Amino acid sequence: MNIPQKVKQTLEKMKLNKKEKIVVALSGGKDSAVTCYLLKKFGYNIEGFHIDLSMGEYSDKCLKAVQDLCKQLGIKLHLYDIKQEMGSGMCYLRTAIQSEKSLKNCAICGVIKKWIMNREARKLKASKIATGHNLDDEVQTFLVNIFKGSPELSSNIGPISRNVSDKKFIPRLKPLFYVPEDEVRKYSKKEKLPVIYDKCPCAIDSYRIQVRKFVDTLSDAKKDHIMKNFEIVFKKLQKKKDTTINYCEICGEPARKDICKMCQLMKLK
Ligand code: AMP
Ligand code: ZN
Repeated sequence: MNIPQKVKQTLEKMKLNKKEKIVVALSGGKDSAVTCYLLKKFGYNIEGFHIDLSMGEYSDKCLKAVQDLCKQLGIKLHLYDIKQEMGSGMCYLRTAIQSEKSLKNCAICGVIKKWIMNREARKLKASKIATGHNLDDEVQTFLVNIFKGSPELSSNIGPISRNVSDKKFIPRLKPLFYVPEDEVRKYSKKEKLPVIYDKCPCAIDSYRIQVRKFVDTLSDAKKDHIMKNFEIVFKKLQKKKDTTINYCEICGEPARKDICKMCQLMKLK
């Protein structure tokens, strides 16, 4: 199966309504660009959303790529400028947090981006958020959780958010869930999509890089097997999972605990 066929099949299983508004989280990279391109090709009602992390030249290039893509596809682009909205760029926010908490760059950035995406997509009255996560990303996350001794953290892995039904939570879709990274790269080049191929300069999470190097040595068939096995095991785990959603006491966003992950990060001594 080629990429468009695989993605079409993944999307059809989600039983989406072609009229519902899907916000595509665009980073400027190949994965979210291909996600956006295919959703548009299949006639979904999409709008782009980009967080400008204000990290200098890299962020400027990402913004330009996202603007070019949305123009090319004829879709609306919503921009969130982190410096304007939160007072500082991602590098400064992260350094401030790291002065008190020993957390990896990507972990901090990931929590902040998810919090922003959910809130902004809700303001835009979107019913879903699509991200560019591919098969390699998901296999890495699954393995990292196992190596860290917390396999239950993987119970949310899947092409569509599961276990959550809450009016303030916008479910996330991963149309490239079954597509290996290498195929995404080739397809983005074949379709000549405006994309930045550089890695984020701050992605120095050594643990994930180690796991990524290992996953890179696996064939696509093996990656596929890991995911299929994972789905069987987690169907059982999920039934036992507590799915209650609270609202954060500080910001009011959906949270698993009394205070959401974002506010836990921001709560400096
Ligand atoms: P990452 O966490 O950088 O691996 O990115 C995972 C997915 O999150 C990407 O495929 C995008 O869909 C989304 N994403 C990452 N960075 C941004 C950004 N700056 N603005 C909007 N969406 C983003
Ligand atoms: Zn909060």
